[in-house]
Amino acid sequence: VADITLKSISKKFKNNTALANINLTVRDKEFFVIFGPAGAGKTTLLNVIAGLYLPEYGNLYLNGVYFNYVEPEDRNIAMVFEDYALYPHFTVFENIASPLKSPKYKESKAVIEKEVTRVARILKIDHLLERNISELSNGQRQRVGLGRALVRTPNVFLMDEPITHLDAKLRHQMRAELKEMQKNLDTTTIYVTHDYLEALSLGDEIAILNEGKIEQIGTPDDIYFYP
Ligand code: ADP
Ligand code: ADP
Repeated sequence: VADITLKSISKKFKNNTALANINLTVRDKEFFVIFGPAGAGKTTLLNVIAGLYLPEYGNLYLNGVYFNYVEPEDRNIAMVFEDYALYPHFTVFENIASPLKSPKYKESKAVIEKEVTRVARILKIDHLLERNISELSNGQRQRVGLGRALVRTPNVFLMDEPITHLDAKLRHQMRAELKEMQKNLDTTTIYVTHDYLEALSLGDEIAILNEGKIEQIGTPDDIYFYP
């Protein structure tokens, strides 16, 4: 299980307040969406959770345990960006397997095989495992990026506008698939977007962030989207 709580989190860059007194709880296995315009503080919030930025103020809890000072690599929190930075000359299998081969998580060949196959099935790319990244479509590459982030079964899975750069048709398809994937993975997910259709179709719960502050939190039925 993994639930995550932010209490009074604030983060400044010089005189610019990126996050101001953020309070929220994401429940175990929930698909939690953070929605807001460019500059709202969405990426900063994910970076604080992932440990890339230390908050100026406030506390982070994972399963009730304070973790402000836990190193990013010890948090087992996976993050996916819109730019996946895959290794282009390696196969899909090698790309997904790479986190399991790092010195810290040196897994056996059998475990690697099993885990890569498991996530590849969920992402529907198990037929592509021997292909090179350079031979894949954008949508397929995106799945490989997700697979690499998910192969270690993270406590919390953070996604920062992962489908923004796909064309409209593929975005539509990926919305449905991301929702299904998240159910099958059983991983607490925080998803950042500035697209209200994504927010509505994916979120069990949605927080609207604006100028570093949470303006609303609720289920898709509770939230009011204004133009
Ligand atoms: P969003 O992801 O919602 O577009 P960000 O979290 O990227 O918003 O940015 C929130 C605010 O913090 C913006 O005003 C942005 O300019 C500022 N900011 C973000 N990262 C940095 C940084 N590394 N250095 C200085 N200012 C930053
Ligand atoms: P290890 O300590 O196990 O070598 P690495 O992160 O260096 O860990 O490599 C893990 C896998 O990631 C490699 O087997 C390879 O498939 C891929 N990889 C790592 N670094 C690169 C790179 N610079 N270019 C291409 N592929 C890489």
